Amino acid sequence: MLSAVKSARQILTSLHEVMASRAGAQAKLNQIVEVIGENLDSEVCSIYLLREGMLELFATRGLNQAAVHVTRLAVGEGLVGTIAGNVETLNLAEAAAHPDFAFRPETGEEKFHSFAGVPIVRRERAVGVVAVQHVEPRRYEEVEIEALQTVAMVLSELIANAELIDGDEVLGVPAHLTGPDRLKGLTLVKGLASGVAVFHQPRVTIEHVVAEDTEAERQRVYLAFDKMREQIDRMASQAEFGVGGEHEEVLETYRMFAYDEGWSRRINEAIDSGLTAEAAIERVQQRTRMRMRQIDDPLLADRMHDLEDLSNRLLRIVSGQLGTAASMGLKGDAILIARNLGPAELLEYDRRRLKGVILEEGSLTSHVVIVARAMGIPVIGRLRALRGKVREGDQLLLDGDQGVVDVRPAPSLVEAFEARFARNRERQAQYAKMRDVEPFTRDGTRISVMMNAGLRDDTPMLGLTGADGIGLFRTEFQFLVSATLPSRERQTRLYRDVMEAAGDRPVVFRTVDIGGDKVLPYLRHNDGEAEENPAMGWRALRVALERDGLLKVQARALLEAAGGRTLHVMFPMVTEPWEFDAAKAVFDGQLAFLRKQKKLLPEAIRYGAMLEVPALAETLDLLAPRLSFLSIGTNDLTQFLFAADRANPKLAERYDWLSPAILRFLRRVVNTLAPFGTDVTVCGEMGGRRLEALALLGLGITRLSITPAAVGPVKELVRKVDVNEIRTAMSGWLSEPPEDLRATLSEWAAERGIECD
Ligand code: PEP
Ligand code: MG
Repeated sequence: MLSAVKSARQILTSLHEVMASRAGAQAKLNQIVEVIGENLDSEVCSIYLLREGMLELFATRGLNQAAVHVTRLAVGEGLVGTIAGNVETLNLAEAAAHPDFAFRPETGEEKFHSFAGVPIVRRERAVGVVAVQHVEPRRYEEVEIEALQTVAMVLSELIANAELIDGDEVLGVPAHLTGPDRLKGLTLVKGLASGVAVFHQPRVTIEHVVAEDTEAERQRVYLAFDKMREQIDRMASQAEFGVGGEHEEVLETYRMFAYDEGWSRRINEAIDSGLTAEAAIERVQQRTRMRMRQIDDPLLADRMHDLEDLSNRLLRIVSGQLGTAASMGLKGDAILIARNLGPAELLEYDRRRLKGVILEEGSLTSHVVIVARAMGIPVIGRLRALRGKVREGDQLLLDGDQGVVDVRPAPSLVEAFEARFARNRERQAQYAKMRDVEPFTRDGTRISVMMNAGLRDDTPMLGLTGADGIGLFRTEFQFLVSATLPSRERQTRLYRDVMEAAGDRPVVFRTVDIGGDKVLPYLRHNDGEAEENPAMGWRALRVALERDGLLKVQARALLEAAGGRTLHVMFPMVTEPWEFDAAKAVFDGQLAFLRKQKKLLPEAIRYGAMLEVPALAETLDLLAPRLSFLSIGTNDLTQFLFAADRANPKLAERYDWLSPAILRFLRRVVNTLAPFGTDVTVCGEMGGRRLEALALLGLGITRLSITPAAVGPVKELVRKVDVNEIRTAMSGWLSEPPEDLRATLSEWAAERGIECD
């Protein structure tokens, strides 16, 4: 028996000669079946190609020549049709014993017992089958099957170049990728969307299979491995991966694969057999896929998914096809699919065409989700292994309300979806009518309903929603979407534009909160080390106070931009009162400088702190006299209060915002500040959910800053609430918490006709 390398190499050398000859496509196919038959010592070798939706016998050695272009099988029919239908290899000692065997008398194949066939794949679809048959009833050796698979890759290139097969509408799609499918994930941003599936990292198309220069191919793979390992080692600190829990496990697996000698050796062997670097990587991946398919183990399936990811990464490096779908531009309404995304990566997409996002991971308060929410883009998370279920270009209906994705939906489903879409639009119109309605509660308390923003493009939402102002402007978003540190002039322009757009309404600028899951490639640690816990690490004010150049520039930009107006500034992640003082001192320094320069100064400056770190609550009475306002960032606060990483998908549903622990904590903060008359706002995602907003009103909170889409719904809620009534009820529940506060509050709201979905 031949060694794997030698047999594949021999076949490839002969095929190379055939391919390079000047013969026509049909003549080449005729020669190819001879080459394969001889090398695999098979009496029969046949090639079937997809034409007009049928698998047609194009060339054969050993079967009746009269059957060529006569024998035709539907996808799914007979052994050949089964191979194409499932995009799967078959290796049978006794062909006739297989349940799908279909006898075709014109071929004269009855005397052959053994049968092996592999699909010819093009762009993940089977476009043909190459099969060998033998008189002796024996299963083909693994090396022979592998050689056949290599041949199939070469054939795929040949037939595509010769345009021998159907166009892109070919039917050779595996059965599990044709019919409708329904996938259930976790709702991260509500809403409905329809569009075609677009993978953030597109699959690489392999154009050349047979190598001209093996040594050069070896070198290419060698360099690509180096680069990939470097990337993996760096990844821990990248936004793409975030930190903690599942991410780390994935990263560990990535490392394990990236440094796996076996993997690189097998790729090198495939190159030795005469393949290009790309074809060799794909070839090895095919083999692994085949082996894994035989093992039914969910844990292994997960690892396989990681290896697929990595293999695709290696392919992208080696082929230089590095761009994401964003760099290629979206062609129509699209639903983006990614394992995970950084907020900056999401912002690279065309906002008009990006209709929805599916993340294989993702959690409710990760920044990419916050950005998507602000953009009004529904997101579903925690849907694993999508490559095996969805193909690029598949029609998708994303139901962010139910956390469901319908893949390749039936027309009736599309209709029903459209109807819901229309109802949603009606509802939106209803909320839009709330724009000019002032949010007074039934008993006459004016609630301030502001919105969160982060980009210049967000400001029109002020007019559309009728929000009372911007209660949280995340200034770091400008840093995230920029390739380099934004200059002072650029910052000044942005802040001025935003204030101008807001007119009389206040805009609360939060100084940069970078670090955590908001990583800037151009602003790294002094020591370059990745942090184990970036959310609790060198971030927000901690970075700003250490790199005070950063804060100084921002202070100057904000002070100048606010010339002649009231400036609202707040500092994120204040942990101890001195940090607030230190940050304010930076502003004071810049103010003095501007005064000396005789620049137009702000009319008034209001300084506030964000309460995100529980420790601050303990010293709040000390800080309160220096504060103009306090804003509670419940996203970070809950992660620290519960010691539960907000970016860890495994914890995404574990703790409830309506838990007595959080509500009691918030009430304590409200009570501490009451004697000082300090304004208290909640600006975390919590306030944008109606039931949670109701709970906050019950705690005595009268100021909310929420995602723009929630402004209408929350205003509607406010007008149905009697503040005194909910405060009394909440006080009772917090003294003696019911078993399920969420359920109790829902019931309470339902009894009063207060809609809280
Ligand atoms: C928060 O932590 O609640 C908050 C509003 O800030 P961010 O989500 O940007 O961390
Ligand atoms: Mg925060």
